Amino acid sequence: DENIVNELALTAIVSANVLYWIHSTPNMRILVTGGAGFIGSHLVDKLMENEKNEVIVVDNFFTGSKDNLKKWIGHPRFDLRRHDVTEPLLVEVDKIYHLACPASPIFYKYNPVKTIKTNVIGTLNMLGLAKRVGARILLTSTSEVYGDPLVHPQTESYWGNVNPIGVRSCYDEGKRVAETLMLSTTSLFLMIDIYAFATEIRIARIFNTYGPRMNIDDGRVVSNFIAQALRDEPLTVQAPGTQTRSFCYVSDMVDGLIRLMEGDNTGPINIGNPGEFTMIELAELVKELISPKVEIKMVENTPDDPRQRKPDITKAKELLGWEPKVKLRDGLPLMEEDFRLRLGVSKKI
Ligand code: NAD
Ligand code: UDP
Ligand code: UDP
Repeated sequence: DENIVNELALTAIVSANVLYWIHSTPNMRILVTGGAGFIGSHLVDKLMENEKNEVIVVDNFFTGSKDNLKKWIGHPRFDLRRHDVTEPLLVEVDKIYHLACPASPIFYKYNPVKTIKTNVIGTLNMLGLAKRVGARILLTSTSEVYGDPLVHPQTESYWGNVNPIGVRSCYDEGKRVAETLMLSTTSLFLMIDIYAFATEIRIARIFNTYGPRMNIDDGRVVSNFIAQALRDEPLTVQAPGTQTRSFCYVSDMVDGLIRLMEGDNTGPINIGNPGEFTMIELAELVKELISPKVEIKMVENTPDDPRQRKPDITKAKELLGWEPKVKLRDGLPLMEEDFRLRLGVSKKI
């Protein structure tokens, strides 16, 4: 009957179009620098879910580890290279997520000059690469560009209050220069208004992020408290303990970074969770959720510790349609599970 024939013909046309679309959509080759690290490896997991993506990770394994990527090693769409971004890099890619840089104070203070080189020479090299191959490049900058902020919560228009000669400045100033370098390659800053010379850039200002795969002994507060609670050691709150941070779960962070890369806005855009906690409140929450009997101990702080930090995420909401979903109370137990496995501490029933 004619209706059935018409329906079959229509189905055939639709299927042919779908097949054509699938085969004609180009594969995206995506470079993730620092992809063996904490945020980078979660980003790689998400990018690899899309069968159209090929992912290349370069990492010098200073703070990252092959373990974080073990499920992808040997996968036909995945490539891992030991490489330091302070050296030139020749690859052909469509997009670059530039994360390479130690993020924890104890690691970025370990060799301050190297941290500056990673941010400055590393970002220059990735921009040179982006220009040569015509790739869009996203930089993971940091809330640390606001230093010890005098504006609260921090909006992207705030210039910051950074000590240029303090123990944190290799990281803070390094990231500030990296942002300037990024913008200096765009038509916003170039005196010659020829779009062809401009690179497509994206800048994310990441606020404190936590989740599975954080380095257990990297000294950051959430990883410290969880490891201490599991080892039955006192939680070390650095004085005065009233300083605040706002903690974003890593899956929310990855979602925000991908939205920024895929959207039309250059940034800088704050990506973080506006839920703000004092370090005493965080310690109490870890105690309540993980180890009610653990002690909380006040210890000495390090110099230049920012007193408050909370992102204003109006821009991310309006321009990216993004906001975090995971509350600290729900994210901490997910991280606890991963730390228990790695520390070999099982849950007492
Ligand atoms: P991480 O230390 O776990 O990851 C950084 C990765 O970069 C590691 O795998 C490390 O080996 C690699 N790396 C460092 N120097 C390199 C170099 N010279 N060449 C090649 N690879 C190098 O840190 P993370 O928490 O995953 O942070 C990722 C990015 O996000 C960093 O740029 C960091 O500044 C930024 N950021 C993170 C946070 C946070 O709370 N985690 C906050 C603000 C900004
Ligand atoms: N670069 C790189 N990979 C490339 C292209 C460039 O690592 O595919 C590096 C290059 O070695 C240089 C930096 O990026 O150190 C800046 O390159 P650009 O071409 O902008 O500047 P120039 O080479 O003129 O200094
Ligand atoms: N902190 C703490 N105990 C620790 C480690 C850190 O109280 O064992 C505090 C630290 O003084 C700071 C906050 O936690 O006020 C966040 O420190 P972290 O190193 O995690 O991140 P950043 O200072 O880079 O935001």
